[in-house]
Amino acid sequence: MSSLESRVALVTGASRGIGAAVARTLAARGALVAVNYAGSADAAAAVVAGIEEAGGTAAVFQADVSDPVQATALVEAVTARFGRLDIVVNNAGITRDGLLVRMSDEDWDAVVRTNLTGAFTITRAAAKVMMRARAGSIINISSVVGLTGNAGQANYAAAKAGMIGLTRSVARELASRSVRVNAIAPGFIETDMTCELSPAVREAALGQVAMGTFGQPEDIAAAVAFLASDEARYITGQVLAVDGGMTFV
Ligand code: NAD
Repeated sequence: MSSLESRVALVTGASRGIGAAVARTLAARGALVAVNYAGSADAAAAVVAGIEEAGGTAAVFQADVSDPVQATALVEAVTARFGRLDIVVNNAGITRDGLLVRMSDEDWDAVVRTNLTGAFTITRAAAKVMMRARAGSIINISSVVGLTGNAGQANYAAAKAGMIGLTRSVARELASRSVRVNAIAPGFIETDMTCELSPAVREAALGQVAMGTFGQPEDIAAAVAFLASDEARYITGQVLAVDGGMTFV
């Protein structure tokens, strides 16, 4: 596995779940990691403490990525603190599930603003830094439901599909500057987001997984570390499903 020594990585929504695992894995490979959180200061500090105990380097950065002003300032703060920005992982995300006819404007807006507009704003700010450096890797955490759709998740699936369009468009724009942009589409990963689901929904989800098990946050983190590394230097504009065989055709 190629080293990420001295690379600076920003991971949004990194106080728990997949984001925290990504932060720990990138730090373990030598990256200096900016652990972004919106409200969970203690949890974010615990992620940083764990990274430092393991011999890595990390720092917390508070920002609500659904607010374009805060998201832009976050990228500027991380770049100013570490002097560069090599890796961005747009991981922050929320769900507000409900059937279409009962979905409120607020639930639509909140999910699109956090999951899609947040990734757009962070990517726009990071692209300016990375284009100047003529290097960088942006990784958007989409979802298998962005590929397949999902009843009860019109807002979330639309936002996650939007992230794939964002990934492919920006990959085309930035390729000539050696900035790579890829997406990961996780399947069913065991985190706080999915443990809220009922046993019946979990059982039904498992039935769609060819490998017959749920994924762990570390499974996504390993894919992120690969896409962030020089081993993936010829990969851009791709969507990598990490789903135990939910979506392959
Ligand atoms: P999670 O709810 O445990 O973590 C999401 C993180 O995002 C939390 O730390 C939360 O505080 C943060 N966040 C939310 N809104 C934010 C904001 N406005 N600004 C900054 N941070 C914010 O969920 P998770 O399962 O770890 O999911 C991480 C990402 O992976 C999400 O984008 C999610 O949609 C995606 N994903 C998860 C699964 C799964 O099965 N768990 C599957 C596909 C995709």
